[in-house]
Amino acid sequence: MIMDIVCLPNVSLRKKALKVLKISDEEKRMLEEMAETMYVKGGVGLAACQVGIDKQLVVVDIGDGLMKLVNPVIIKKEGCEALEEGCLSVPEAVIKVKRAKKITVEYLNEKGEAMTITAEGLLARVIQHEVDHLLGKLIVDYLSPIKKLFFSNRLTIRKL
Ligand code: ZN
Repeated sequence: MIMDIVCLPNVSLRKKALKVLKISDEEKRMLEEMAETMYVKGGVGLAACQVGIDKQLVVVDIGDGLMKLVNPVIIKKEGCEALEEGCLSVPEAVIKVKRAKKITVEYLNEKGEAMTITAEGLLARVIQHEVDHLLGKLIVDYLSPIKKLFFSNRLTIRKL
């Protein structure tokens, strides 16, 4: 089933997602539907809050195959690079975001096994973007204060 993507200013996007305590059939089904939705919408990543689900679930596919990440945590960041990004939940916006070039992430796969991976380049960027979603953070939060003012007519900016 294709899920509806929630967009700003929907409050679901601003919550800290809850940790998944048990990966049951329900979570597996959610991950499957999130992946299907991501492919149909032409995204390279999707976090559960973008389809209104308050759980730490993420799917990513940059063209190298589907990854399902439960409770992902970035434990190491290296380097820094500013590149333009878009987001299915912030339609039309293309925003330059500074992120680490290389990251190490810990997560559970859908079998509940603890995984640690090191990612670079686009994969590292997409995972950082999706982990931001789980923390209630969006690409608009990376705008300079002056651009935030400009955007605030249309978007709800997170209160810091
Ligand atoms: Zn996004």
